[in-house]
Amino acid sequence: MSYITVGSLSLLISASTALSMPYGLGCATDVTTDGVVGVNDILLVVDRWGSNDDLADCNRDGVVGISDILLIIDEWGSDCDSIHPFEGNTSVEFDYVNGLVVISYNGIPNHPTGPFDGSTGCYNPNDVSMLNITYSIPMHPEPTNNPSVDLMSQTGPIATAVNGVPFYNPYDAGGIDAPSTICFDDYNGHPSPDGRYHYHQWSPAFDDVKTDGHSQLVGYSFDGYPIFGPWESETDYAHESTVNPLDDCHGHYDAVRGYHYHTSLPYDEDPNGFPWVMGCYSAQPETSNFGGGGGGGGPGGGCDACAQNMIPPPVCNCVHNAPGYAYCCTNWDAACQAYAEQFCNGFTGSDVPTQRPEPQRNAQPNRPERQMHPQRPNRQGPPRQHPPQNRPRPPHRR
Ligand SMILES: [Zn+2]
Ligand SMILES: [Zn+2]
Repeated sequence: MSYITVGSLSLLISASTALSMPYGLGCATDVTTDGVVGVNDILLVVDRWGSNDDLADCNRDGVVGISDILLIIDEWGSDCDSIHPFEGNTSVEFDYVNGLVVISYNGIPNHPTGPFDGSTGCYNPNDVSMLNITYSIPMHPEPTNNPSVDLMSQTGPIATAVNGVPFYNPYDAGGIDAPSTICFDDYNGHPSPDGRYHYHQWSPAFDDVKTDGHSQLVGYSFDGYPIFGPWESETDYAHESTVNPLDDCHGHYDAVRGYHYHTSLPYDEDPNGFPWVMGCYSAQPETSNFGGGGGGGGPGGGCDACAQNMIPPPVCNCVHNAPGYAYCCTNWDAACQAYAEQFCNGFTGSDVPTQRPEPQRNAQPNRPERQMHPQRPNRQGPPRQHPPQNRPRPPHRR
């Protein structure tokens, strides 16, 4: 068993540099996905010898063969559980029995939040709270054209960013498109009624460093597929790509990354970026992530969105001078009143929240290097009833 000796020796230098799975979770050489790089992996390679089996082709050269065995030997005994992109206030456990990566997160982002007291023009009645949050990400996505959960009607989290902050679908309380309507802090986040700080779009918290021109991974959908930033290449904005167009779910396939989603540019840089992160699930989402602790994404909402989407016409409870915080319901029931209370109560005079400002075209001709405390352009601006139509597309940035 000389290769074990060789492997054990090489372990010392390769353990921290083991090749990761295509989706970035665990070792590529752990082809049996049991958490151990060892004999079983070699046996599986032998079993699939000469095929192009995705799993056993751990060095991704298109054929299962000797080079895969050599890589397994090189990474023998690697600590596969340490291979994941999660950071910040998260901890990660690999549940090999159930095929899940379980992320625990305390609800506090690894960057500043707020203020949400209106002092900078953004009011939100909720507080960013410390929470016990766990999300389970499937290690092996199960593609489907008919996922069990409709992302667009899902309240609360639909995906998790690598810093533990959840992504919500485009809609906030009341069914209004959040990025174009609701205010956020400098990191494009805000808290929902349960205190859960979340994003609806790309956040400046992510590095925009690219690998071979392609944006880097920023999170995982609850169906197991990874989510990358806005760029397909140095000049190809994924949301508008004609080279490798995104599907309705806002994802596409390439040989390097497999199937993956892309975020759009944030609203400030592309007001036409809907659905901002994902449009639907391309694989079965892990449903244990849903239910409870949602909030913030529920039905109802802004009168405009509501009137377009609901039949019969809704009762609109628009608040004086705060059209972006209007909430629409079909019935003035307890839930409706609660939403109205949350988003409408106490907004008088100078407390009236401002809506999202018009994006500043060409205000930032070049995206700066990552800023730890990015400054936004002035948030104050005229209230706006609709997302802008027929706006010029943003210039492609590198
Ligand atoms: Zn929200
Ligand atoms: Zn891509």
